[in-house]
Amino acid sequence: MAVPVSQMWTVVTYVLKQQWAGRKQYPFVLMLEPLFRCNLACAGCGKIQYPAHVLKMNLSPEDCFRAVDECGAPMVSIPGGEPLMHPEIDKIVEGLVARKKYIYLCTNALLLKEKLHLFKPSKYLSFSVHVDGQKEHHDFSVCKEGGYEQAIEGIRVAVEAGFRVTTNTTLFDGADPKSVRSFFDEMMDLGVEGMMLSPGYSYDKAPDQQHFLGRGRTRRLFRSILSNRKASWKFNMSPLFLEFLMGKRHYVCTPWGMPTYNVFGWQKPCYLLQDGYTDTFAELLAETKWEDYGTESGNPKCANCMVHSGYEATAVSHQFGSWKGFFELVRANFALYRDPEAAKLLEEPVKPVHAPAGLVQLTLKTEAKHATSELASH
Ligand code: SF4
Repeated sequence: MAVPVSQMWTVVTYVLKQQWAGRKQYPFVLMLEPLFRCNLACAGCGKIQYPAHVLKMNLSPEDCFRAVDECGAPMVSIPGGEPLMHPEIDKIVEGLVARKKYIYLCTNALLLKEKLHLFKPSKYLSFSVHVDGQKEHHDFSVCKEGGYEQAIEGIRVAVEAGFRVTTNTTLFDGADPKSVRSFFDEMMDLGVEGMMLSPGYSYDKAPDQQHFLGRGRTRRLFRSILSNRKASWKFNMSPLFLEFLMGKRHYVCTPWGMPTYNVFGWQKPCYLLQDGYTDTFAELLAETKWEDYGTESGNPKCANCMVHSGYEATAVSHQFGSWKGFFELVRANFALYRDPEAAKLLEEPVKPVHAPAGLVQLTLKTEAKHATSELASH
């Protein structure tokens, strides 16, 4: 696992403190969305279809610090939108580093080279670059020809400048397991610290509804990709969560483990669903009907979800919450998952990737709308 020892120690001591305090619901990662604006219009994104007046909104650094202090999670992920488009992203990062929070600044890296001078390398800051696979897959996923080369250049420049760099990859139906495995080699050769993976969640606002994975197909895809793995591949995530994706273990969702704060407030119940907002984190915990969420709840919105924001917190809680979980973590860290049947899956033909009818046109329209709203905001 490619998580620095200091970060792991921070998380372990945090979990133990929560357990000694008798807390049943506690957050690991705050998903802090300081804006929804983006310079891409990815087909599987559920965040960028907001009206122009919402896309213009920014959380201030003070809003961000208040949410981080209130929540208390040791790690803060900054997705969006594209955080590098936030006019005060450097102040937000500086304030979080001063609070000793481990930050994952999620970026498509289109602006990374240009804005890198705003940041200082720190063990607390990692650029988590969105790359959805090798060139063809990534460009299709982000609906931008040449998006892959720009992301790779951003990674290269940030690694050379001494920053921590990880990648985050969302896999959709039609992903080619062989290509994904070659992509892992490419990222390791670039000097990336570790990779994060997740199946796509079927946002009902996303333009492309055809390529989201059901649970059975998710397990099959991740089993084919992650079995017989190379020892050189490093993942910046819980190995037990990866086992969950491969179908080797069962977890229930703990949506409070990665709560979301954005321009509307604290989002109920998780990063993926929007069933209302609260003004405070305490209200989010107290007022959300948690029993209505997770795959076991029967809620159709949760039926196919295996996304990290719901299930990785469960894995982390398990691995640091008992000796049994800890030994399973140690074993999983060294396992290469030899599986001849999974190797055969790599030889199966892959469904060709085609954009659904109308998607390209819709994407172009969305890009035009963003360009207009961005102009209007300056
Ligand atoms: S199962 Fe997925 S969509 Fe449902 S609450 Fe959990 S994370 Fe959210």
